[in-house]
Amino acid sequence: MERGGKVSAGKLLKSIFLDLLFPEYCVACGSFLILDHRYIACNECWESYFREFKDKKCLICGYPLRLKPGLETVCRECLESGRTFYFDGVNYFGVYSELIELSIKALKFEKRLPVGWEIGRTIENHLRSYIREIDAEIVVPVPLHPEELKERGFNQCEEILKGAGISFFSLVEKVYNTEKQSSLPANRRRENIKGIFRVTGNVKSKRVLIFDDVFTTGSTANEIARELKGKGASKVFVYTVARSI
Ligand SMILES: [Zn+2]
Ligand SMILES: [Zn+2]
Repeated sequence: MERGGKVSAGKLLKSIFLDLLFPEYCVACGSFLILDHRYIACNECWESYFREFKDKKCLICGYPLRLKPGLETVCRECLESGRTFYFDGVNYFGVYSELIELSIKALKFEKRLPVGWEIGRTIENHLRSYIREIDAEIVVPVPLHPEELKERGFNQCEEILKGAGISFFSLVEKVYNTEKQSSLPANRRRENIKGIFRVTGNVKSKRVLIFDDVFTTGSTANEIARELKGKGASKVFVYTVARSI
C-alpha cells in the first residue's frame, strides 16, 4: 500500500484483505508483509539494503574507489586501460545489492510497476540533487526497442522516473534490437550496440542526463552519449539506480 498521506478505512480494509488473501514475505528477512511495507520487502529491510552509496566513486566509470584503488579520483581499471567515455560524469544511487537486484527484476520481469515507483521514491532526493549539481536541462530514459516495449508493456526507466516525480523526455530511440548486452563479454558490448540508438529531439547545446536502471560496463550509456554529443549536446551525464560491482 501507499506510504504517507491519509488512508481511508475502506482502503485500509482492502489492503489488509489483499495481504491476507495473497500472502507475501519479505525477500530479505522472510517476515510476513502486512500493511505498511515496500511491496517485496519490509520497511526495515528496504531501508537497510536499498541504501545510498556514499563512498568515493571513480570519476570516469563510477566504480567504488576503495574496491579498485588507483589514483585519488580514478580507479585502477580506468587507469590501466586508459578507457574513456563520451559522457562527462556518472552517478548512481547504490551498488547492486541483492535487494536492489530483486526489486529491479520484480519490476522488469514480474511487471510489478508499484515496485518501480517505490524505487523512484527511494532515489528521488539523491537524483534531484545530482540534477541540480550538474545543471541538467533534459532527463532522457534509456529507450527499449519497440519489440521489447511490446513484450514488456512499459519502459522500466520511465516508470522509476514517474515514481520519483521527475519529468523526462523520451527523445532517444532504439532503432535495432540487439543480442542481450548481459550475455556478452565486456569487450564485445561496445561494438554490439554501435549505431543502435537515434536521437529524435533537439539537444543542441543542452546539458542532458541519461537515466538507466543499472550501470554495468557503461557501454549502453556510452553509445547514447556518443549520439547525443553528435547531435550537439554540450554535456552528457549518466545516472543509474545501481552500479554493478
Ligand atoms: Zn524484511
Ligand atoms: Zn573507473
